[in-house]
Amino acid sequence: MEFESVIGLEVHAQLKTKTKIFCNCSSEFGAAPNTHVCPVCLGMPGVLPVLNRKVVEYTIRMALATHCSLARESRFARKNYFYPDLPKGYQISQYELPIAQFGHIDIEAGDNKKRIGITRIHIEEDAGKLIHDPDRPKSMVDFNRTGVPLMEIVSEPDMRSPEEAGAYLRKLHSVVRYIGVCDGNMEEGSFRCDANISVMPKGSTTFGTRTELKNLNSFRHVEKALQFEIGRQKEIIADGGQVIQETRLWDSAKNMTTSMRGKEDAHDYRYFPDPDLLPLVVDDAWIQAVKADLPELPDAKKERFVREYGLPSYDAEVLTSARELADYFEDCIKTFPQPKPASNWIMGSLLGLLNAEGKSIDESPVSAENLGNLLKLIADGVISGKIAKTVFEEMAKTGKSPRVIVTEKGLVQVSGKPAIEEIVAKVLSRHPKEVEDYKGGKTKVLGFFVGQIMKESKGKANPAMVNEVLKEKLS
Ligand code: ADP
Ligand code: MG
Ligand code: ZN
Repeated sequence: MEFESVIGLEVHAQLKTKTKIFCNCSSEFGAAPNTHVCPVCLGMPGVLPVLNRKVVEYTIRMALATHCSLARESRFARKNYFYPDLPKGYQISQYELPIAQFGHIDIEAGDNKKRIGITRIHIEEDAGKLIHDPDRPKSMVDFNRTGVPLMEIVSEPDMRSPEEAGAYLRKLHSVVRYIGVCDGNMEEGSFRCDANISVMPKGSTTFGTRTELKNLNSFRHVEKALQFEIGRQKEIIADGGQVIQETRLWDSAKNMTTSMRGKEDAHDYRYFPDPDLLPLVVDDAWIQAVKADLPELPDAKKERFVREYGLPSYDAEVLTSARELADYFEDCIKTFPQPKPASNWIMGSLLGLLNAEGKSIDESPVSAENLGNLLKLIADGVISGKIAKTVFEEMAKTGKSPRVIVTEKGLVQVSGKPAIEEIVAKVLSRHPKEVEDYKGGKTKVLGFFVGQIMKESKGKANPAMVNEVLKEKLS
């Protein structure tokens, strides 16, 4: 039997506000445990929450960027449960009336374009963090994270493969960073994803029973965990069994998911409207003001890069994946206005370098202007493309401008005909047999000669001139 998988994602994005959602404690990551706390976020009796306006503004931004419709009035609810990281005994969230619903984002997985529905976006507070002592049977709790603002983005079950889920997640990640509402740091947990997955016979319209996967802290983990879970569920069904609805944990060391707990239902939480908080009212003027302030979004930028710069769709996709990278590209072509070579160097050498060093584009040792200057030197024939790679490596190491490096290291390209003739003559005299071969019709040895000449000149000979002189000498 052939199966099809059905995937829906729940993403928790921590909002980049200075303070927490209902008090003025700092929401900064990494402080000493329990130093960013107060009676409100510790859930002392009798305290009152006061909603952080910035949280609402950021969520409106996200809702607009994902084409959601915004509720003019939404409500906060108490989601009741007991856990040591939740001092109040309930989490303030939104339940029946979320701030935003019915949105979508467009993804590209391989060659297929697809629209993924967004069911809802709601605002909630984070819980604290448990720290388990590896040496003793003891756990500690850090309440710095309680009350840190989150936005939960729930997708429709519209994805049909791990690749589509990965593409959706990357797109969402790109959007939150473009609009500056979340830093997207998955390792620090500011962008977290739970993946819901079920399988059904291909062509069926009734979804199978889903499991919910947690502990996915990178894009790769999400894709790998889904892949594993599809296999596991298929096997159960093929054996005549039934998948049970449960929450499962991804174990990245063992490359498998294991059962964590049975899946709770909404009614288990005894949701009710929080009596301490007024309904959240958002008016048209506020929405319009936020809209006017939105930057160009990834899709629009990509489309513009294709239209304005004549870039292939693939290049435009890569370059617009992060706003800073797109800015870098546009700065580079201010110095050297040829988009395609600039794109090639950024996608190849520059991203390769940053990847290898684990750096972000903001930390690039090669500035956009200097990369543009390097491309100029190639275009002007001052250096060859090959030497340019050496110069680039040196720029990466020292941060110096390409001009300075070329001068210091004597890398200027040799283009003068007499100088090239001298090198060509030297190489040909060293290889009489190959010269015979060439004259006998084996034109392939031309490549060999070019290679030897470039080597002799330490890569500095102008390739066009080399070819011209070679053909003259061999004819
Ligand atoms: P809960 O909090 O119970 O997990 P939510 O409504 O927050 O419920 O999230 C449910 C998620 O599961 C959504 O992303 C939805 O698209 C997805 N989903 C629902 N049914 C299925 C199914 N049968 N297979 C895969 N995903 C599903
Ligand atoms: Mg869930
Ligand atoms: Zn506080």
